[in-house]
Amino acid sequence: MKPFLYTPLPTRVVFGRGKISEAPNELRKLGISKPIIVTTPQQRDAGETLAHSTNGVAYPHAEMHTPVRVTSAAIDFVSKNGIDGIVALGGGSSTGLGKAIAFRTDLPQLVIPTSYAGSEMTNILGETEDDEKKTKRDARIQPEAVIYDPDLLATLPSGFAATSGLNAMAHAVEALYASDGNPVVWLMAEEGIRAMAEALPKRNGGHDEALYGAWLCGTVLGSCSMGFHHKLCHVLGGSFNLPHAETHAIILPHAAAYNAPATRAAMTRIAVALGASDAPRGLFELSNSLGVATALKDIGMAESDLAKAADIAAATPYPNPRPLERGAIVSLLQDAFFGRPPPQTSH
Ligand code: NAD
Repeated sequence: MKPFLYTPLPTRVVFGRGKISEAPNELRKLGISKPIIVTTPQQRDAGETLAHSTNGVAYPHAEMHTPVRVTSAAIDFVSKNGIDGIVALGGGSSTGLGKAIAFRTDLPQLVIPTSYAGSEMTNILGETEDDEKKTKRDARIQPEAVIYDPDLLATLPSGFAATSGLNAMAHAVEALYASDGNPVVWLMAEEGIRAMAEALPKRNGGHDEALYGAWLCGTVLGSCSMGFHHKLCHVLGGSFNLPHAETHAIILPHAAAYNAPATRAAMTRIAVALGASDAPRGLFELSNSLGVATALKDIGMAESDLAKAADIAAATPYPNPRPLERGAIVSLLQDAFFGRPPPQTSH
């Protein structure tokens, strides 16, 4: 076995139906007496209800891709209102704003996820400024505590549940071939893909298992470096403002096919976890069976921007099993643009 390094991340996890009721308790443990309760405008009511039971102040202004201008306004609000901790309630956008505040203030964070994005388990913050999304890792960004309550997923629209679950799977797919992966991460990644692939077709019946899968997928995202798939999705989200989860869902089978020739062992593990004979095709078929968009043209991408997206994605070097080849990236983007299946992996 190759030498490896494993550093578990220190977030405390409370999992179970109805466990949002533990929020006041968790806040006491963190020494928080007046939290800001961060949500998006769409989850304003849930934020106000939670604020009521936690002596918190609702702040329903989170936006996707964590724009720095939104964070600056939130920091101003925190300093003027005697806030001593952060609760993020929602998907990755709410978690992102909570993390952006924590990065600048070092206030403790409790995250209560309501999607499968997985951001709550990582020390990663992606922020957008001047049409560019930049990512940083820092110990202040890692949330201190997370409450996973599957009951909160009941209101998740089914299309978003599917794309959010595929977004989670993308973390596990890339963890299986990450240059800094390790055997513990591989176990969690394979189990995360299996749990998610079994849960998503069950729709409302699968929230417990899908949230369990999202926790595993988020954990591996926090534990190792992501490659080409995540980089390309950051470009499409940050520079072309495409929606995060939908973009991940569309790109994932194509990015897996791109890396397949250089990552045979990982592809075998992914195929086993999916119960498929070919990993990229298995991922594509799962998306199709869930009825989610499989073409970039259907989520706001312009065909004339494909070459520019490929230029940006190929410009900065980052760890990836297969070298970045601009021509191959353009052809991948064309397949993804029209919703064509990824090329079959040759065995
Ligand atoms: P999101 O948080 O933007 O949610 C999409 C919409 O669904 C929002 O309006 C939200 O309020 C709503 N929603 C969420 N949960 C709901 C529920 N249970 N019921 C009803 N409505 C609900 O989308 P997302 O895909 O969860 O997160 C995307 C963001 O997270 C991106 O900015 C991405 O970069 C970031 N992210 C960061 C990391 C990280 O480790 N830093 C990891 C994953 C995602």
